[in-house]
Amino acid sequence: PSQTLTDMIDASVARFGRRPALEFFGAVTTYRSLGEQIARAAEGMRRLGVRKGDRVALVLPNCPQHVVAFFAALRLGAIVVEHNPLYTARELRHQFEDHGARFAIVWDKCVDTVAGFPSDLAVEHIVSVDMTEALPLGKRAALRLPIPKARESRERLSTTPGTKRRIAWKKLLDHRPLPRRTPRPALEDIALLQYTSGTTGSPKGAMLSHANLRANAMQGRAWVPGLVDGEETFYAVLPLFHAYGMTLCLSFAMSMGARLVLFPTFDLDLVTEASRKSPPTFLPAVPPIYDRLARAASRGTIDLSTVRFAISGAMSLPVATVERWEEATGGILVEGYGMTESSPVAVGNPMGRTRRPGTVGVPFPSTEIRVVDPDDPSVDRPLGETGELLLRGPQVFQGYWQRPEETATTLLADGWLRTGDIASVSPDGFVTIVDRIKELIITGGFNVSPTEVEDALQTHPDVAEAAVVALPRRDGGEDVAAAVVLRPGAEFDVEGLRDYCRTHLATYKVPRRFVVVDELPRSLIGKVLRREVREKLLAER
Ligand code: ATP
Ligand code: MG
Repeated sequence: PSQTLTDMIDASVARFGRRPALEFFGAVTTYRSLGEQIARAAEGMRRLGVRKGDRVALVLPNCPQHVVAFFAALRLGAIVVEHNPLYTARELRHQFEDHGARFAIVWDKCVDTVAGFPSDLAVEHIVSVDMTEALPLGKRAALRLPIPKARESRERLSTTPGTKRRIAWKKLLDHRPLPRRTPRPALEDIALLQYTSGTTGSPKGAMLSHANLRANAMQGRAWVPGLVDGEETFYAVLPLFHAYGMTLCLSFAMSMGARLVLFPTFDLDLVTEASRKSPPTFLPAVPPIYDRLARAASRGTIDLSTVRFAISGAMSLPVATVERWEEATGGILVEGYGMTESSPVAVGNPMGRTRRPGTVGVPFPSTEIRVVDPDDPSVDRPLGETGELLLRGPQVFQGYWQRPEETATTLLADGWLRTGDIASVSPDGFVTIVDRIKELIITGGFNVSPTEVEDALQTHPDVAEAAVVALPRRDGGEDVAAAVVLRPGAEFDVEGLRDYCRTHLATYKVPRRFVVVDELPRSLIGKVLRREVREKLLAER
């Protein structure tokens, strides 16, 4: 890449001026107006004291202000730090302790949480964002935001809060635009501190440079042929605070002058309503969302035949979901793979009939992969065998924020990134992800992939969902255990489930324990948190 994200957005503003850039509950912001707001917000931030290298924390759902704040902070050479606004006070505080941002742009529902952070935290300035201000006055009252309640109220912080300056977002924009001569960020500068999802442990801050993020959007462009500049409509149902939504919706959509329709949360009614006025052409999402949309499309309550590109990632995509989507919409659903540390996409299926369901596809342009011995990454495994997947390419991150040891074990000296995932590669180059190394179950000397057992269980007519985990045994080994969510009206028949597994799986893979649960714990992007399932099963034992 030869462009920073700042150069990219400026080029799009110049090129696509009057075209719609953002749409939020029907209210449209053009590229020109977006550029103007970015320049004003950047000046507002500069006057607050934001300088190159400062961290600017965003605690925002998807809304127009999120996009403006993101590019305004970048323009000053600052580092954007994204946060999940639905995190608890404790989770948010941990992240603020970690990155030490002095400036925070915060959804008004979370302002009290951030203002309540103890005085030894660095945060000094809080800009409060009322999302409804992005709508015309008459529409605000009617706005129905199906957003889960902010969770801060349930937690009390024991320490004394320090004093912080609160500013309204509107006031921040009450300035002339930033002078053009203000120094611009460089390609190598860190643009984003993106926390990992926290599936396996506490989230780690991945440092992504302008070059990393720009590279991934360019690789994406090569991946998806047939996109038309200025003509596409992207649906941002994924959160922009996660690496997946950020790259595919923000940097990718904006680089081609697309209309980005913003949803503060995934809600079937909202998507249905928006699709009548601005039909989607590009829809990145996760399997549970495709499943719900496909069911609605087959009932005929939503028309998704306009979606030319449907891209699934972040977790394994069941082949049944692919079939359901393709039958209901007439389009093609392809699966890709990546991680926060690779900006995030590294592998993707071809966009067409040659895609191979059940695999995550082939390496992105300029991306190399290896499959190695997890105990010694210098030893390559023969083609077709499973091992740890390593990645190398221009999208691979710069390391974890202030975690030199974890950086050294994850990012090898020659640029290879250890994914922590077990994969195999077919002779013609298609990658299959087996599972995370940390979640493989070792029972009686065999490795069991929880995903394989879950997939088998999910084909049982009584089972809606399943999560499979390891439970420690007294002798030091592990047992396979399954938590299942039953379909409405189904009876819990342990012997029946066990027999079913026996006919579909080798004996050592059959769960020893079955437990019925009402729902599976999921991260906000929809990943099943096996770690929490395991804790629950352990507590009940
Ligand atoms: P943490 O690193 O904090 O434990 P996380 O790994 O879930 O959380 P992300 O960076 O959001 O955080 O997710 C990357 C991981 O998601 C990958 O390492 C892989 O395990 C999983 N993943 C991504 N895409 C796929 C896919 N198509 N199929 C299966 N797993 C996937
Ligand atoms: Mg990870």
